[in-house]
Amino acid sequence: MNRKKLVVVGGGAAGHKIAHDLSAIMEVTLIDPKTYWEVPMALPRLLVQPDELPARMTFKSFLPDARHVQGYATRIANNSVIVETSNGSETIPFDYAVISTGSRYIDPLIKAEKATELERIAEIEVAHQRLKAARRIVVIGGGPVGVEITAELRETFPKIPVTLVHAADRLLENAPDKFPEWAKKDLESKGVTIILKDLVVEPKLGEQPVDGKIKLKSGRVLDADTVVWAAGAKPLTDFVKTSWPELVEANGLIKTDSYLRLEQHPNIFVAGDVTNLPEGRLAITASFHVVSIVENLKALASKSFAKDTKLKPYAPKVPGKGLGKLMILTLGRNDGLSSLPFGQLRFSFIARNMKSQNMFVGKYRKDLGLNPTKT
Ligand SMILES: Cc1cc2nc3c(=O)[nH]c(=O)nc-3n(C[C@H](O)[C@H](O)[C@H](O)COP(=O)(O)OP(=O)(O)OC[C@H]3O[C@@H](n4cnc5c(N)ncnc54)[C@H](O)[C@@H]3O)c2cc1C
Repeated sequence: MNRKKLVVVGGGAAGHKIAHDLSAIMEVTLIDPKTYWEVPMALPRLLVQPDELPARMTFKSFLPDARHVQGYATRIANNSVIVETSNGSETIPFDYAVISTGSRYIDPLIKAEKATELERIAEIEVAHQRLKAARRIVVIGGGPVGVEITAELRETFPKIPVTLVHAADRLLENAPDKFPEWAKKDLESKGVTIILKDLVVEPKLGEQPVDGKIKLKSGRVLDADTVVWAAGAKPLTDFVKTSWPELVEANGLIKTDSYLRLEQHPNIFVAGDVTNLPEGRLAITASFHVVSIVENLKALASKSFAKDTKLKPYAPKVPGKGLGKLMILTLGRNDGLSSLPFGQLRFSFIARNMKSQNMFVGKYRKDLGLNPTKT
């Protein structure tokens, strides 16, 4: 039997694993503008110690049987995707597709966008040197990414004052309910200044200060020569909107049915940050999508007629309920907060053993059959 063609659009936390898990039984093409996947959780550590973790894995190292097309999907139709590459445009046909194009931050430093590993290594090294030499740092955004970066900066560069500015009235407002207070107390005990309910208006989005001053909406002026923009994740779904505007919500999220498929398109699945399900936009959530989609695509791949295949529905992991409670927040190399289905824990040894020591890099490498500690 001919192997079914699967196109995975976006090789991030969800897409790289779907491509990996199905490449033995389907003819897999992965579309991504980069040549590698970088574990996003590693970024807070990489900023303070760029070579501590082997966080980047080239697609060819773990997808020997798949085709990687380096480029951006610009349009999708029922059975093909159009990709813009450095050689022009290519139309790639499929029986099944997965849309897993994720999200991007205001500052591309926060989630890898550089095309090659070498360019990304250089980008992080420049940021690292800037942070190391800073007189005062302002971190903008008190969600999980901003809090983790702030904690790493304090731990590694204890002499550099750090201020965390957040627009909401508490840090981590979407995290498990005890995390905001625990994280605030922890960071303050480590000497971080926290400013809530305020916004940075100067420098402009994504830019660095030119005169050592940071202006806030309230009129307050902070003295700092370096900022880290850790705010503003937006879904990357323009190519879906171009094809089917009615299937993309105003916030950019894609209308997803109860089998993790694009509404009205039973051969196109949707995974990770781009789905419009009532879930946290997290890698842990993406990993649940991967399990469900891989299982259903395995069933579909083995049948000549998709109509005969019974798919398993997906139960969203609603924050605060069951598996939706899962979250580990690091507060430096040896500290952190954990939320598990049975409760929230302040004991640092759980976060340390599960995440803080290597930011999940070892686990992700192992899952792909790669050496967990070196490239
Ligand atoms: C610094 C940081 C720390 C984090 N820590 C945690 C954590 O501790 N725990 C947790 O659960 N979550 C964490 N997250 C969130 C987590 O990383 C995201 O939820 C996750 O990456 C989403 O996975 P995804 O596959 O949907 O998208 P992404 O991982 O964003 O991947 C999307 C991929 O699609 C590609 N792409 C984009 N547009 C196109 C296009 N048009 N054509 C082709 N390819 C395209 C991109 O190049 C990228 O490779 C963190 C995020 C960051 C930035």
